[in-house]
Amino acid sequence: MFVGLFKKEKFEIVSNQHEAQIIVINTCGFIESAKEEAIQTILEMAELKQTAKCQFLIVTGCLVKRYQKELEKALPEVDLFISVDEYDEMWCKIENLLDLPRKSKNTLDYLDRTISTGDKTAYLKIAEGCSNHCTYCAIPSIRGPYISRPMEEILKEARRLADLGYQEIIVIAQDTTKYGIDLYGEPKLAELLEKLCQIQNFKWIRFLYAYPESITDELIEMVKKQDKICHYFDIPLQHFSDRVLKRMNRKSDSKSIENLITNLRKQIPDVIIRTTFMVGFPSETEEDFEELYEFIKKAKFEKLGAFAYSKEDGTPASKLKEQIHYKTKQKRWNLLMKCQEEISRQKLEEKVGKTYSTLIDGFTHDGKYAIARSYMDIPDEDGVIYIENTGKIKIGDFVKCEITGVGEKYDLVGKINH
Ligand code: SF4
Repeated sequence: MFVGLFKKEKFEIVSNQHEAQIIVINTCGFIESAKEEAIQTILEMAELKQTAKCQFLIVTGCLVKRYQKELEKALPEVDLFISVDEYDEMWCKIENLLDLPRKSKNTLDYLDRTISTGDKTAYLKIAEGCSNHCTYCAIPSIRGPYISRPMEEILKEARRLADLGYQEIIVIAQDTTKYGIDLYGEPKLAELLEKLCQIQNFKWIRFLYAYPESITDELIEMVKKQDKICHYFDIPLQHFSDRVLKRMNRKSDSKSIENLITNLRKQIPDVIIRTTFMVGFPSETEEDFEELYEFIKKAKFEKLGAFAYSKEDGTPASKLKEQIHYKTKQKRWNLLMKCQEEISRQKLEEKVGKTYSTLIDGFTHDGKYAIARSYMDIPDEDGVIYIENTGKIKIGDFVKCEITGVGEKYDLVGKINH
């Protein structure tokens, strides 16, 4: 959306930072690693004020919301900080900084956004903020409560994306399953997905992230009924020990989690379930970790990401006394990831010999292989399928691909099946 803001004012957008006179950095302040990455980027870009054409450095996003005063002190190279709750006055602040003569009514607008995920796949944000208040998470305090966008506004944006040729739509929010409750008094994700399916150009529709306690029968039915909705659920579960889940202020418990996974697998036999777990939450005992580990072995998730708990300023969990030692967190993380590596391998091997519809995202440097994804893979997070390049396929094509083998890590290898 920031790019759209400048485009509306006829600024030229350049793809190389060395060419830019104004650099805007959008930061994330969610976890320690994201904060470090943001600071590193700011320092790198600040150097361009000496070595390249940069005259103005603007920093915005969640990190500013959390640490504006500290950042202003520590980073005098930055010309303007804009917090996430100052977006309405964003252009006004930029005008002042650049000493522009007139005051325009330029504001951030979803319809003006420039999409950076290629020509075929676009993300569609349906809500801002979060009201779940997990005790380890800073997002509700950074982004505010969950606010759904009106359905008509989302559909208008979706129709525009369809007109621009996008074929894969990824519906996102901190928790998509809560969509509509604040605005319409009831969950509306299933209805929204149904309406998106009616937009002709779309071939694949996905939604991330689905919270376990809010996955309704209606939603499962909709996924089963609509061919365009990928059989893919990304359900951040975070833990399996009831004691830890409770201290995390998660609404689900081990029993409801188990029931949900069993139900999903029964109702949608080819479902792909992706999840995220956190190890080393304060007070997590060896027994808690063992419960989680055993569950992962049993549930055999197709995709799994794990994080070591990071102590975030201002969160209730950061005040808990029983913080876990760094080395213990690392050891538990390694164990989980090792266990999952084997499960993923087995799951991938089961795909060999099967044929899937795949979307061509690009090609390897030498042009020998097309890089594709099936309904089982979301961009950037999951693996890809390397398909022998016949010379007759191009980016954005949907082709039938027979899986012929397992590649490195989480990737598959295949050939076109006519
Ligand atoms: S649901 Fe997600 S975004 Fe919301 S508080 Fe919990 S972890 Fe944070």
